[in-house]
Amino acid sequence: MLDKARLRIAMQKSGRLSDDSRALLARCGIKINLNQQRLIAYAENMPIDILRVRDDDIPGLVMDGVVDLGIIGENVLEEELLKRRSQGENPNYLTLRRLDFGGCRLSLATPVDFDYQGVECLNNTRIATSYPNLLKRYLDQKGIKFKSCLLNGSVEVAPRAGLADSICDLVSTGATLEANGLKEVEVIYRSKACLIQRDGDMETDKQALIDRLLTRIQGVIQARESKYIMLHAPSDCLEDVIALLPGAERPTILPLAGDQNRVAMHMVSSETLFWETMEKLKALGASSILVLPIEKMME
Ligand code: ATP
Ligand code: MG
Repeated sequence: MLDKARLRIAMQKSGRLSDDSRALLARCGIKINLNQQRLIAYAENMPIDILRVRDDDIPGLVMDGVVDLGIIGENVLEEELLKRRSQGENPNYLTLRRLDFGGCRLSLATPVDFDYQGVECLNNTRIATSYPNLLKRYLDQKGIKFKSCLLNGSVEVAPRAGLADSICDLVSTGATLEANGLKEVEVIYRSKACLIQRDGDMETDKQALIDRLLTRIQGVIQARESKYIMLHAPSDCLEDVIALLPGAERPTILPLAGDQNRVAMHMVSSETLFWETMEKLKALGASSILVLPIEKMME
């Protein structure tokens, strides 16, 4: 039984978003045992229940207020939004945060031997896709008429199977397209995973928990994007060293025992340090350069 007092979060059960979603919640300190093949998992240390479903169901569960939060790809969310609007509904939800995983693009792709000269080449052709609403919005804006062939999987085989002239599908590396004799010709939507909240009143305790969770997510993502940098540098070229580290906050400068001419510098940088920059730092006289990952951050 679902307990209404507990925060309900929907996430993908198994697929491209599930590992990252699970890891994000774990990093936020939520202890969940997801080993069983169960639909609902209960957090041991917080009043949180995790609903594990197919990703396609997540936007609707949030829009219908069945769950409080959902972790979902923007592509699936936007498609559901457009679908519901086309059916005359006015779905509502809040986007709390874009997340740092699940990056992909929804693209048009044609067979490699298709002489593609621009999107108008697709006028009056048949396009296979799992995203008919996103595709329609894009092609309507360009004034292109098309026939869609709705497929919920294996979209990339449609041209070879004679089901469609081209496809509109998700791409991350392009390897699947290439393996199926297709080329990407137009990006129509760029997507990442995001965290959404249902619209409407939220109990005070639940909202406070959501706010805490959001601060932790912010800390996890910021930490992943940041590095802790330590190095020794000659005291007379500190400004030059700092200039090479644009993403770094004001560094902490510490004396080095027994060395009057050099200091230790510690700083958090919002960017990683590339080998090229490390080589430049070394050329300035810096040494003992360490770049460390950060586990958690709170500002
Ligand atoms: P489900 O069984 O939950 O319906 P699915 O097969 O529809 O799963 P997945 O392939 O697991 O979905 O993809 C889930 C989401 O991951 C996509 O909607 C998209 O937001 C994101 N994603 C990131 N990279 C890719 C990619 N290369 N191909 C497809 N989806 C990707
Ligand atoms: Mg799906």
